[in-house]
Amino acid sequence: MGKLSNPQETIRIIKKYDFSFQKKFGQNFLIDGRVLERIIDESGITEDDFVLEIGPGIGTLTQYLCEAAREVVAVEIDRMLIPILGETLGEYDNVSVINEDILKVDIAALSEEKNSGRPIKVVANLPYYITTPIIMQLFESGVPLESITIMVQKEVAERIQAHPGKKDYGALSLAVQYYADAQIVANVPPNCFMPRPKVGSAVIRLTRHSIPPVKVKDEKFMFRIIRDSFNQRRKTLVNGLYNAGGTGLTKEELAECIIQLGEKETVRGEALSLEQFALLSDIIRERV
Ligand code: SAM
Repeated sequence: MGKLSNPQETIRIIKKYDFSFQKKFGQNFLIDGRVLERIIDESGITEDDFVLEIGPGIGTLTQYLCEAAREVVAVEIDRMLIPILGETLGEYDNVSVINEDILKVDIAALSEEKNSGRPIKVVANLPYYITTPIIMQLFESGVPLESITIMVQKEVAERIQAHPGKKDYGALSLAVQYYADAQIVANVPPNCFMPRPKVGSAVIRLTRHSIPPVKVKDEKFMFRIIRDSFNQRRKTLVNGLYNAGGTGLTKEELAECIIQLGEKETVRGEALSLEQFALLSDIIRERV
């Protein structure tokens, strides 16, 4: 079996199985060996590692993962791909494929079983229609994680990595940066995929913080404040939080909280750092 990073090999397999690409599953398969090697390099996988791959497709990235890691589990939703993966991964004895929606898999139990609960590495060329739910599931479900190295839409990678004052900065940046250090490690143009996506892509590496970079009394409450603060981007923070109604405080009370934080009451959510959101959330929580 040849490498699927060779476009001729990908075409051969697709024809052989009469496979039709499913747009609803975000199926854009990689066909560029240099990009695949870059993903493996940037993920820092060693032969001691257990790797979870989300959405193996026909197994293009999986072939590289099997060669670099101790063991790979690949979770694929599309049952039409399962027989294909049987052939393309046939020569590797360190991989198992699970035919399931990743959002329904108990990844914590899987990592307990396969890696004795030690932190795992996740590597994927993600289906773009569920990028955010997948990332948040990984962070919030208590899975022991070392790093997540993923291909995402370029614009999403920029949002994840953005800092206060930048136009892309928002709830996703803050949520991810609370859990991990985010680094865009490669930009990938549409011609590296089959079929070509309409958008540019980027590989981003999220390295889990061993301790969160800020202290907050109630994590869930902070994330609610963050979401409410960015719901109406053009409004001031006071108006955004007031209109979201989640705190039950009056506008005047919210303004006092923001002044107590050391900011003007006209400040917008996009100007606050993660540290300030943590403080603000503690201040508001005291009052609620
Ligand atoms: N890894 C392959 C590659 O790089 O060529 C395919 C990547 S393709 C962008 C995304 C893959 O995720 C597809 O194979 C798609 O069927 C699969 N997928 C989509 N939604 C999924 C879900 N909820 N759970 C698991 N796999 C999913």
